[in-house]
Amino acid sequence: MVGDNPVADVQGAQSLGLVAVVVRRAETRRRPAVTIEALSRVLAEAERAVAFTGAGISTESGIPDFRSPGGVWTRYDPRDFTFDRYVESAEVRRRSWAMRREFFAAQTQPNAAHRALAELEDDGRLVAVITQNIDGLHQAAGSETVIEIHGTAREVMCIGDRPRGGVPAGCGFRAPTSWAFERVDAGDDDPGCPTCGGIVKSATVSFGQSLFPEAIDAATRLTTSADVFLAIGSSLQVYPAAGLPQAAKDTGAVLAIVNDEATPLDPIADVIVRGRAGEVLPKAVQESRNAWTCQHGPPTALPRTTREPREPRGRR
Ligand SMILES: [Zn+2]
Repeated sequence: MVGDNPVADVQGAQSLGLVAVVVRRAETRRRPAVTIEALSRVLAEAERAVAFTGAGISTESGIPDFRSPGGVWTRYDPRDFTFDRYVESAEVRRRSWAMRREFFAAQTQPNAAHRALAELEDDGRLVAVITQNIDGLHQAAGSETVIEIHGTAREVMCIGDRPRGGVPAGCGFRAPTSWAFERVDAGDDDPGCPTCGGIVKSATVSFGQSLFPEAIDAATRLTTSADVFLAIGSSLQVYPAAGLPQAAKDTGAVLAIVNDEATPLDPIADVIVRGRAGEVLPKAVQESRNAWTCQHGPPTALPRTTREPREPRGRR
């Protein structure tokens, strides 16, 4: 169960050729816009926006950042739960299922920020959500295209008998996490793969585990074709979180950041809104609809395309 995983992130970034972020502090750069209205104008103009979400969007659903006070990693020692330790030790696997039980004990629901992004996708302005979160709340809110770069806690997967180098080598078996809990409840506290007998693990990226290449490929492809990159609730300090906004900027996207504290990428952002995602996003998305409907005109201080705005698609 890992939120941000610096080890895996750096490995993934290196193996996939993402360049290191060097925050470029242009001496003459203009100041970013800082209002919800500015964000709503950017969203009103977007045709293929991509949202990137971190732990900050889920805290309002009652899911603490794993590293925050009271978070999972303040009560469990992460060194005990690396990918290699999981492979080596049946005892670690037994304790992991108990920990996952704790994670699932809280019945969490998507919040207004998750729903706002689902509405933006319905409107045809947002093409995907890339998330660091493993909680599945974007899908629960109705988002259809969700790239989970740290995997998902909603499913388990076979990682094979002796995977090496932090790379799962399973047979392809996947099941809802409830499949594993049912077996644990029935007395099998280290359930194995029903197909090949391999080790079964949560389909998340553990400490010391490589990122899933297909997820990183998809995230990179979406990011570099986005016209707006909207980073929400992420400290943007670890890879690939730190690399994606820069990649979006490099390919011409407007970069908007919604976070309750400063991030290292603020100096290259076009719009920065300080605040909680659950308060900022619903307002921005609603205002983006109003801005379009009333034809308030183009943003004055932000890049825009020359196309005509489209009729928003109605909610399904
Ligand atoms: Zn298997």
